[in-house]
Parts: sequence; structure tokens; C-alpha cells
Amino acid sequence: MSAKAGTVKTVTSLTNPLVKSLRALHLKKHRDETGLFLAEGLQLVRYAIDANWTVETLVCAAGSLDQRAIADAAAQTKAAGGTVLQVPAAALAKIARRDNPQTVLGVFRQRFGSLAKVGEPHGGSGLWVALDRIRDPGNLGTIIRTADAADAEGLILIGESCDPFSSETVRATMGSIFHVPVARAGESDFIDHAKATSARLVGTHLTGDVDYRKADYRPPSVLVMGNEQKGLSDALAGACDQLVCIPMAGRAESLNLAVATGLMIYEARRGALI
Ligand code: SAM
Repeated sequence: MSAKAGTVKTVTSLTNPLVKSLRALHLKKHRDETGLFLAEGLQLVRYAIDANWTVETLVCAAGSLDQRAIADAAAQTKAAGGTVLQVPAAALAKIARRDNPQTVLGVFRQRFGSLAKVGEPHGGSGLWVALDRIRDPGNLGTIIRTADAADAEGLILIGESCDPFSSETVRATMGSIFHVPVARAGESDFIDHAKATSARLVGTHLTGDVDYRKADYRPPSVLVMGNEQKGLSDALAGACDQLVCIPMAGRAESLNLAVATGLMIYEARRGALI
């Protein structure tokens, strides 16, 4: 059944409630209440459409529908039942919260991956990345992008974490938020689930006793990464089959979480990414 064709609306006032409501999507509270999030720029909107995400609202600068690529995105939005909203450039800047916004902004419904699929072999790369209480949106976006680049199956956010659908994270993913499933789980639910599968849990720890270049990453496996300040919790470290360390020669106390995760993902996928 085809979706009901969407509509085109034009807003001229900066104080229009629609403009206020879209701008409020920068706030976690409003994202939680609506289940929506923002992605800025035509390139991200294109990635989303190509990955079969539905644009709920395509916000574009007045006059920009003359551009072929934007008109195409608008046509696809309407065909899928979404709304195309034309606004003055100043309203776009207000919604995007920046002085020089892109001419297009997409509003999407949040999607979370399922913990049930983690560790279950189904012919993919068989590699997942679990993040213990990650706090930094830029780190999270970078990790999602790196997981996408290496064709990891998905991410699991363990415990209270930053929001994968915040504007900062979405921007840092460079579109990979539309490709990589992100699941959420409490610590004990994650451990119980992982232990019930055949997945090997490869934890990372500054005092790990296995060099990360010598660890066993045969799929299915889950890389378990620690919190930026506190590292891996004792419960998670205790649940891991191996605790690996990335050697450091200088005086840095540790590596940045996103850098450490990138090294781990690429080491785990080394054989597949030649
Ligand atoms: N003060 C924290 C600690 O004592 O663990 C440092 C955490 S570090 C900034 C964040 C995470 O990155 C760590 O929990 C671990 O997952 C990973 N990490 C950073 N450097 C690492 C290294 N040299 N070896 C293994 N994992 C590392």
C-alpha cells in the first residue's frame, strides 16, 4: 500500500509555533516527548532517504525548491507522506541554531536497534561495539561513523548514556546514524543477554593482560569499551572473556575513547578490510 501523499506548507513568521517546536528538538526533553530528531544538510537527508528512512518533515529555505536536488528530496518526502516546510532563511537559522545554516534540514523518527540481535550470527560481520555509560556526543558520533566504515553490525549503549539523536552526535556521524543500529540496555540485561549467546566479549582496560593485536576477535564478538572518566565497570570487566590493552609508550594516561574504539574495531576487522 502506498503512503498518503504529504503536503507542502509555507511559514513566514519566525514566531510560528512550528518553528519553535522544530528548534526545541535540540533539547533532549523535546526529542524524548516527540520521538523525533533533526539532521542538518541535504547530504544527510539523502543518506537517510537512500537507507529507507522516512523524512517526517523536510524544512527548506524559501526559494530553494528551484534546485533540482532539493526538489527531488521534497518529492520523495511528499511521496512517502511527509511534509515539506518552506521557511525564510532566518527561520532556518533559528531552527538550526546557527548563523549560516544549510538550506535543508530533515526531521526523522528515532529508531533503536534490538539487544536480541546482538551476538546472533546471521551472515554479517559478526562484530558489535558496546559502550559503557558514554558521555561525550562527539565521541559517540565518531564511533558510530567508524563502526559504519568497518561494517560493524551495531552498537549497544549500556547504562545512562548521551543521546545518539542529539544534533551534535548526528552531525559527528556524518550520516552513519542512518546505517548503524544503536540499541540500549541496562548493564545486567546486556551481560545476561551476551552470556546467553555464543559471542565472545572483548573488554578494553588500561590494565588488560592481552595485547589488543593478539586478542581473539573471531565472530560473533562484542568489543566492550569503558566510560571516558571511569573506564569499564567492575561488573562488565568481570563478564568479559578477554581484557585487552592498547600499549602506550609515552606519558598519556589513556587514549581518547573514540580513538581506542577505532583502533579496536579496525584490529577486530583486520582480516576483512584488506
Ligand atoms: N581513567 C579511565 C580509566 O582508568 O580507565 C580512562 C578511560 S579511557 C579515556 C576510556 C576508555 O577507552 C577505556 O575505558 C577503554 O575502554 C579505552 N581505552 C583508552 N585507552 C586504552 C588503552 N590504552 N588500552 C585499552 N583501552 C583503552
